[in-house]
Amino acid sequence: MEHPENDSAYKGLQVNSGVGSQPITNPYRKGRRRAPQLSVGEYVEGILKGDVSVLGRAVTLVESTAESHQAIAQEVIEKCLPYSGKSRRIGITGVPGAGKSTSIDVFGLHVLRRGGKLAVLAIDPSSERTRGSILGDKTRMEKLSQEKDAFIRPSPSAGSLGGVARKTRETIVLCEAAGYDNIFVETVGVGQSETSVHSMVDFFLLIQLAGTGDELQGIKRGIMEMADGIVINKCDGDNVDRAKLAASQFRNALFLFPPTPSKWKPEVITYSGYYELGIDLVWDMIDRYFEYVQKTGYFERKRNEQAKYWMIETIDEQLRSNFYNTPAVRALLEQKELRVLNNEQSSFTAAKDVLDCYFRELRREDM
Ligand code: GDP
Repeated sequence: MEHPENDSAYKGLQVNSGVGSQPITNPYRKGRRRAPQLSVGEYVEGILKGDVSVLGRAVTLVESTAESHQAIAQEVIEKCLPYSGKSRRIGITGVPGAGKSTSIDVFGLHVLRRGGKLAVLAIDPSSERTRGSILGDKTRMEKLSQEKDAFIRPSPSAGSLGGVARKTRETIVLCEAAGYDNIFVETVGVGQSETSVHSMVDFFLLIQLAGTGDELQGIKRGIMEMADGIVINKCDGDNVDRAKLAASQFRNALFLFPPTPSKWKPEVITYSGYYELGIDLVWDMIDRYFEYVQKTGYFERKRNEQAKYWMIETIDEQLRSNFYNTPAVRALLEQKELRVLNNEQSSFTAAKDVLDCYFRELRREDM
C-alpha cells in the first residue's frame, strides 16, 4: 500500500518503499551440506595415513547406534586391527575434583615432549543421563587441545556402560592404527566404569587427594586393588605435608593387599598437576612398570586376556540388547513382572517362560 505521506496533497518529503527482510540463510545453498559418506577403504586409508578428520568421522561411526553405520564401523575396525596394539594404554581415574583434567593436560604434554602422539578417550557412565560427557572434553585440557599430535575425544554417550566401554575399546584400535602410540582412558572413580577401563589398559593410575586424615575410608577398596600406581595430587603450598602423610598411609595400606597378578608393587607418589611438580617422577614410575611387565611377559599375557574378555563382553552385550529389544520378549516381560510382584508366579519359572519366548522368536526368524 502506498504510504499516506506520498499523497499528492502532502508536500513534505517523499517516503520510499522499504526493502523486504532478507532471508537469513543463503538461498543459493540447498539443504545441509554433508561430507559424503566414505567407503570402508577410504576410512582405512585415511586412518592409516593419520588423517585426524577421517579418524574423527570413523569414531563417530563407531559411536553411532544406526545399523548401517555399525556395519561399516565393524569392517573398518577389522581392517585396522593388524595395525593396532603398538601403544601404551594408560587408564586414569579419580573422583571429581581430584585433578584428572589438569593432570592429563600436563601428563599429556610431558608424553608429547618425548615424541609420538597421544589420544585421550573417556568412559563416563553418567553421560548417558546427561546427554554428553564432560570427561575427555577439549575445553578441560586447554594446553593439550592445542597440540596437533593430541586427539581428544569425550566419552561416547549412548547406551549401557558395557556398550559405552566397548565403543571406547574399539576407538583405541582406530587411534592406534592412526599412529597414536600413547592412549589415555579417563574415567570417574566412583562406580563400575573403572573395571571396564582396567580391562582395556596396560597401566591403571589412581589419582587421589590428601583429605582430612580419614582418606582411606572414602576409597573403594576394589579401585585401589586395581591400581598399578597411586598418585596424590595437589602436593603444593600448605598442602604438602598432608599430601605426604596421605602417601605414607596409602603405602601402608598397600602392604595389606594381596600381590597384584603382575607381581608389580604399586607405587605411591605425590605431585602437583597445577604447578607441574613431580610430573617426571610419576612418569618414571610408569616407564619402570612398562619395562618390568615387558620383561616378565605379563604385558603380552594381559593383552591376550583382555582380547578374550572383550570378545565375551561383546557377546554378552549383544545377546542382552537383542533379547531386550525383541518386542514379544518385552511384552511378556512386563506381564511376568506383574505376576511375580503379585506372587502369582515364581521368579524362576517366569524367567524360564520369557527365555522360552525369546528362543521361540529366534526359531521363527530362522524359518
Ligand atoms: P577433575 O574433576 O578430576 O577433572 O579435576 P580438575 O582437573 O578439574 O581439578 C579440580 C580443581 O582442582 C580445579 O579447580 C583445579 O584447578 C584444581 N587443581 C587441579 N590440580 C591441582 C594441583 O595440583 N594443585 C592445586 N592446588 N589445585 C589443583
